[in-house]
Amino acid sequence: MKQMLTFGRYCKRRFGQRVRKVPIALAGFTCPNIDGSVAKGGCIFCKNESFSPTLEHEPKAPLKINPRMSENPLLPMQLKQLHSQYEWQSDFHKNKFGVGKYMIYFQSFTNTYAPFSTLKTLYTEALKLPNVVGMSIGTRTDSVSLEILDLLASLQEEKGQEIWVEYGIQSVYDETLRFINRGHTTEGMEYWINETKKRGLKVCSHIIYGLPNETKEMMLHSLKQVIDWGSDGIKVHPLYIIEKTILASLHEKGEYTPITLVDYIDLIVQSLKIIPQNVVIHRVSAGVRNDTLIAPKWCFDKNIQMRSIRDALREAGIEY
Ligand code: SF4
Repeated sequence: MKQMLTFGRYCKRRFGQRVRKVPIALAGFTCPNIDGSVAKGGCIFCKNESFSPTLEHEPKAPLKINPRMSENPLLPMQLKQLHSQYEWQSDFHKNKFGVGKYMIYFQSFTNTYAPFSTLKTLYTEALKLPNVVGMSIGTRTDSVSLEILDLLASLQEEKGQEIWVEYGIQSVYDETLRFINRGHTTEGMEYWINETKKRGLKVCSHIIYGLPNETKEMMLHSLKQVIDWGSDGIKVHPLYIIEKTILASLHEKGEYTPITLVDYIDLIVQSLKIIPQNVVIHRVSAGVRNDTLIAPKWCFDKNIQMRSIRDALREAGIEY
């Protein structure tokens, strides 16, 4: 049996106990692919509110922030949200599952797309929260800078906690990135992964299976490429269609067909045969448990998805 290094297993070895990622969604954050800096409208599948249920409970921000602002009037509110979201989620995991340590996960939108002083304050504050062993920051390879990576490296050294940078790679095919209106190409991906790793930070690369016009071979090639670039961790998920997105219109017109569960499971089995045992697998499933999900319907229930994936992996001699 090939045993994979799941995020859970990795944390038990690294921190000696179970660790949960606590997703944080701060009002006012956006993405250069949404606010018009690199493109308008965002990725054709993006409806970030659906990806971040925590945001639903927060008041709407009166403005969106970006790195060019000299001041961020939302910072006090964002700090409050960081504290309250951490508090209720860590309490929940402690009471329900007995988990005692946490990793802050800045998940929604692009979490390096803000004035530098805002990032410094939020990251520093996050690492000070009780029982926090580290932090993970979701971003794009066109939205980091050497200054931000240096800040993260110095925080990691100073606080002795672990910092991951999670890059949304999605595909290593420029034609796919163009089609999904990603707002950047593959240029610079390897460079930013290298610069991140050079500073002792960990890199998790996100890949999507089921992107328009991609074959299984292309999807597996994207995976192999991010492994070759030295990713310490991988997150794979299926592309699903959320209402009121461009992808939903394409689907309605019959111009996009989502990946089937059978194909997705087959790809995951093939992927886990390729992924080395020292690469941390952060996730191989995804879903939206609300009625904004249009298709595929199997993405509604992550537990059913994971059960089918685990069964198929066991049959293939892989312990996940
Ligand atoms: S990079 Fe992320 S937040 Fe930005 S448009 Fe694409 S999916 Fe949405």
